[in-house]
Amino acid sequence: MSAPNMDVLVSLAKRRGFIFQSSEIYGGTGSCWDYGPLGVELKQNIKRVWWRDFVQERPDMVGLDASILMHATVWKASGHVDNFTDPMVDCRECKRRFRADQLGDMPWLHFCPATKGNKFTIPAGEPCKHCGATRTLCPECGKGELTAPRQFNLMFKTFMGPVEEDAALTYLRPETAQGIFVNFDNVLQSMRLKLPFGIAQIGKAFRNEITPGNFIFRSREFEQMEIEYFVNPNDRVDGRPADEAIHDTWIEACRAWFLRYGVAADNLKFHEHDKAELAHYSKRTVDILYKFPMGWSELMGIANRTDFDLKQHAKFSGKSLTYFDEERKEHIVPFVIEPSAGVDRALLAFLLDAYQEEEVRGEKRVVLRLHHELAPIKIAVLPLLKKRPEIVAIAHELRTRLAKRWTTVYDDTAAIGRLYRRQDEVGTRYCVTVDVKTVGDREKGETGDQKVTIRERDSMEQIRVPLAELDTVFGRLMGDTAWAEVAAAYPRAEA
Ligand code: ATP
Repeated sequence: MSAPNMDVLVSLAKRRGFIFQSSEIYGGTGSCWDYGPLGVELKQNIKRVWWRDFVQERPDMVGLDASILMHATVWKASGHVDNFTDPMVDCRECKRRFRADQLGDMPWLHFCPATKGNKFTIPAGEPCKHCGATRTLCPECGKGELTAPRQFNLMFKTFMGPVEEDAALTYLRPETAQGIFVNFDNVLQSMRLKLPFGIAQIGKAFRNEITPGNFIFRSREFEQMEIEYFVNPNDRVDGRPADEAIHDTWIEACRAWFLRYGVAADNLKFHEHDKAELAHYSKRTVDILYKFPMGWSELMGIANRTDFDLKQHAKFSGKSLTYFDEERKEHIVPFVIEPSAGVDRALLAFLLDAYQEEEVRGEKRVVLRLHHELAPIKIAVLPLLKKRPEIVAIAHELRTRLAKRWTTVYDDTAAIGRLYRRQDEVGTRYCVTVDVKTVGDREKGETGDQKVTIRERDSMEQIRVPLAELDTVFGRLMGDTAWAEVAAAYPRAEA
């Protein structure tokens, strides 16, 4: 078994309809991605379980869907106009652009004077073994001088209305959070909420990243799943200020969520921001890192944003954004804990973690061991012989019946062994095969056993189940009953 490198996953994602490069027929953009038929199912499943687990099942959470385009002053108040910048340098020779703070993390090209100018690619941060030089020039072309760093604002500008003038300037939101802060009072009043409570939102965000890359890890258009959890800072939880204690609870809840849907514990770790790294609004931030093929990188962040945003919006809008603390009879500005995850990064982590190559009877099997709630296809119905109309008819009928409750596909485009492999490769947990025994031989007056074979993806075990019991069996399997428990009640079918 082995984890994939990024190229293997990118190729599978394209070949099997998960993810395509945006505008590929025009050469692609390199910084945006399109989700194909299976990718869109996987992405929706991730968002659905996140929303269910963190919003619908909790009494202290509500949802929101705010506009992408907002009043331009929002971004002045939030600090994005002044602070949402990355230091950028340009190569004077090849004109490539880099983030100054990431230059040390890149391998660099070097024409070594000690070896008659031979070309070497030197690992990030290391000096040349031959001449001892460290990188000063462009890491990509190895020749050009780099400009001094300039601050580059990552927000995409646009104009609201028919006239392109400064008064009409606004931005595509670079995070979903601000839509929640500006609606704080609307939600509080309409839903009569008591602290602590949270508002969640899933939606697109846009950042004009200087160096997008690593597939969907860093793109210019992506989706976020964010929660702003409002806390009374005067309250105490377990003897500690409520914001600090609740921050810890969210950090653990977020990690547990990734584990629940199949990410291996060894592939996750926390990163505590030091003072220099903290954003301007943050009292404390902890990132959850995932072991991506390019190294440990941020999967999501959980920040204590204090009362910064609500106070800023109150100041810029002139509207009070406070909460009346009944117990202490005073108006307070809540503190905010923000668990912020990228949908695309989560999807990439789930795919990487699920991907396995193994050997089965001397052949390579690629299998995506996706959690069944995430798998894009839950059930594939496969006729063993597509030349037998009775088999095909039952298979179609089954697909129609099962598709009412679970994402179910029908496939008869290859022999059964190959069909199983294709479903393994996209993470389909169950295949249902209709065969000759199911329908019997009409000419001989047989009616068949009216049973089908269910094959489970991970164990490749097969059981024989009456057609009439399929809905009950899948109801249990999709409802978290273990395969082994369900399978124990039925006879094994031959693999
Ligand atoms: P990074 O340091 O990687 O640029 P960030 O700290 O700026 O990320 P946040 O502002 O905390 O990211 O955004 C919250 C989450 O949104 C990130 O943890 C990540 O999952 C996701 N995210 C941020 N930027 C991008 C991007 N360009 N492409 C895809 N996902 C992103």
